[in-house]
Amino acid sequence: MSQALQAVRGMNDILPDEAEIWEHFEDLVRDWLRSYGYRPIRTPIVEPTPLFKRAIGEVTDIVEKEMYSFEDALNGEHLTLRPECTASCVRAAIQHKMLFSGGQRLYYQGPMFRHERPQKGRYRQFHQIGAEALGFAGPDIDAELIMMCSRLWDDLGLEDVKLELNSLGSAEERLRHRAELITYLQRHESLLDEDARRRLHANPLRILDTKNPELQEIVEAAPRLTEFLGAESMAHFKGVQTLLKDAGIPYRINPRLVRGLDYYNRTVFEWVTTRLGAQGTVCAGGRYDGLIEMLGGKPAPAAGFAMGVERLLALWRESGGQAEHAKPDVYVVHVGEKAQRMAFRAAEALRGYGFAVLTHCGAGSFKSQMKKADASDAQLAVVIGDDEAASGEVGLKPLRGPGIQQKVMLDGLADAVAACLFAKEEDEYGSV
Ligand code: ATP
Ligand code: MG
Repeated sequence: MSQALQAVRGMNDILPDEAEIWEHFEDLVRDWLRSYGYRPIRTPIVEPTPLFKRAIGEVTDIVEKEMYSFEDALNGEHLTLRPECTASCVRAAIQHKMLFSGGQRLYYQGPMFRHERPQKGRYRQFHQIGAEALGFAGPDIDAELIMMCSRLWDDLGLEDVKLELNSLGSAEERLRHRAELITYLQRHESLLDEDARRRLHANPLRILDTKNPELQEIVEAAPRLTEFLGAESMAHFKGVQTLLKDAGIPYRINPRLVRGLDYYNRTVFEWVTTRLGAQGTVCAGGRYDGLIEMLGGKPAPAAGFAMGVERLLALWRESGGQAEHAKPDVYVVHVGEKAQRMAFRAAEALRGYGFAVLTHCGAGSFKSQMKKADASDAQLAVVIGDDEAASGEVGLKPLRGPGIQQKVMLDGLADAVAACLFAKEEDEYGSV
């Protein structure tokens, strides 16, 4: 026997028990996004590498060390598995002139790829659900995006998800802050780690969100961007806060929240929990007013967020979130060639009425098939042998609870199944 192959490290199989929870979660999420007027967009998994280099920024964790990039073997094009989807959404919006007809509220969901060290809550293929509001300038949309998230946590029954908020101001404000920040960090240069020293001049803001515990004290005392905000940025930031206060959403202003991607400005936020260990950020987002122009579009403001599905599901499960295991209504048991043909007709007829039906496939005695029917969690078995095939009547047998097997003509089967299932529901919920 040859050696069995394994999935790529950090890329997970999601098996049926787990995938059912994912689908249930995705259903809830889709309803929630629609209730805020967001519409789906699906972009390719693979994009030209320059898209991410330009959008995310050259001196960022993602572009420096996390992208799965390769050359197309056929034409030498530089391609990358998407590490995030905001850049793709903006590229698509520009390419298809979507903003000509005004602002667009978009959402996406799907796998993203980053070459990171795999650990709990951090994978190389992971999944995000994200919303992007393209063409909206005001603090109102920022607040709406945040309020949306808050509602989702409520809908899912998640506790302990806290909002952190900051403003990155405008490019000019960041430039003035940057000069002060460099001076400050230079005073402590001997204490900086290799990453920080390399970024000191290229991207000093990024040093503020270092995860190195030895640098915490230094960055804690660093000059704060919020002190460099001008009147407009300040008014925007206050505008967001007023709407959040009105909505009763508590937040903490975290001056060190700078986000790992270069395209953000003004409002940035993260939703964080202490229940997931080190990987506690379940959702992150903010405003990126320069990105559309930077990627070649007509200048237009925008804001959005992305949430990590694996982390959210871990949290949801902890709070009791689960999915109903999908059960068939009916399992069709049959022995004999004529019986098999009748079984297929019966099953298709029932599906036509909307019932979920498992038809036994493969050989087996009545006894072994009935065992399978029981194990399938179906409510009812339809039983067909040579006698039934000859008479045109099938056996209908309740698999759980009381009730006896009855004989039913094929054209009355759907009604009989409905009667059995409905009677059972009445038993469970009391008669109506
Ligand atoms: P981190 O600081 O944890 O690396 P990030 O700033 O790189 O996060 P974003 O690019 O903002 O993350 O992505 C948004 C969300 O996607 C994160 O808050 C997180 O929930 C999720 N996420 C990011 N990277 C991963 C990963 N490798 N595995 C699982 N989820 C991830
Ligand atoms: Mg990261």
